[in-house]
Amino acid sequence: MNMVSHNGETYPTSDLRWRSDSGALLDLDFQPRLTADSLSGRNRTMWRYREAIPIENDADIVSFDEGFTPLTPHVIAGSTFLLKQDHLFPTGSYKDRGASVLISQAKALGVDRVVEDSSGNAGAAVAAYCARAGIQCDIYVPDSTSPAKLEQIASYGAELHRIPGSREDTADAALNAAEGHFYASHVWNPYFFHGTKTFAYEVWEQLGHSAPDEILIPTGNGTLLIGAHIGFGELLAAGLIDRIPGLIGVQAENCCPLFQMWEQNLDHLPIRENTPTTAEGIAIATPARAKQIVDIIRSTGGQLVTVSETEIRSAYDIMNRSGWFIEPTSASAIAAAHRRPHAEDKTVVIPLTGHGLKSAGKI
Ligand SMILES: *Cc1c(COP(=O)(O)O)cnc(C)c1O
Repeated sequence: MNMVSHNGETYPTSDLRWRSDSGALLDLDFQPRLTADSLSGRNRTMWRYREAIPIENDADIVSFDEGFTPLTPHVIAGSTFLLKQDHLFPTGSYKDRGASVLISQAKALGVDRVVEDSSGNAGAAVAAYCARAGIQCDIYVPDSTSPAKLEQIASYGAELHRIPGSREDTADAALNAAEGHFYASHVWNPYFFHGTKTFAYEVWEQLGHSAPDEILIPTGNGTLLIGAHIGFGELLAAGLIDRIPGLIGVQAENCCPLFQMWEQNLDHLPIRENTPTTAEGIAIATPARAKQIVDIIRSTGGQLVTVSETEIRSAYDIMNRSGWFIEPTSASAIAAAHRRPHAEDKTVVIPLTGHGLKSAGKI
């Protein structure tokens, strides 16, 4: 297995690098060996797909026995959707899928300190898994991040750096700090995506070894969307499903560069002023993997959609009143579901990406 850059260069996975020499994104050319039969009797965690996770030695696994979250039917605007309860992860978001694999790789490489930047949840996940592994970490977040997330990151013992300005200013600050350290970026590091892909494996198993028709995913940097595509792609290559589900990326109207690329057929990011959104987890003006995300969505016959602040707020309130406590970022996909009723025989999955306690006191 190697790391392969988007412009075709190859690097060994023992490199501490997070991008190619010329600055291109990296992916892994990993081929899992997993059969449906081998799964029976295994622990109900994301690590049950062990052969599909590119960590060589079991001794390096950093885990809280997370994953295999429930997939529960819920009626939204007259249609039944399946809610994948990823807000029930140890740190309260699906980012734990990626952090478990990424920090396992950091441990395998013998890294003793990592740097990460995030709008909050990825930082909390990396901080928790570093604490579990005994690895030091510096987490960079925008100053405006929800107080509960800041508190959570600091509680894990991470060095918390609050950066004034935009999410991009935070990324720049982390990049400077990453010189000479391991940049545990959930956006750049390809190992993260081989954790988030376990979402696809779980849904496949929970649907009786089949793929859903569609998945509605709140999307900023695309870490769940790309992971889902890798996972379903591997299942398809192994002959375990017969098609990849249509991936619907949901963005906030106030910050929707991917939607604009998709709608205007651009192959680069648009230049546009963004305004704040209550969906802070997807408020990403310059997603590094933008082209990859849009290409994936096209290839699955999917779509990018936007939702307004009013719709997000309304979806958030309606979910709360039905007993689902999720953060507003996660409610963006519910808002999209309100606009997308579907026929009874169609299977549509929505991940609940973050727990409501994450944004308590901010919304
Ligand atoms: C990170 C996150 C997302 C979206 O992830 P991207 O990688 O930016 O696409 C959605 N919801 C929540 C709660 C998140 O923390």
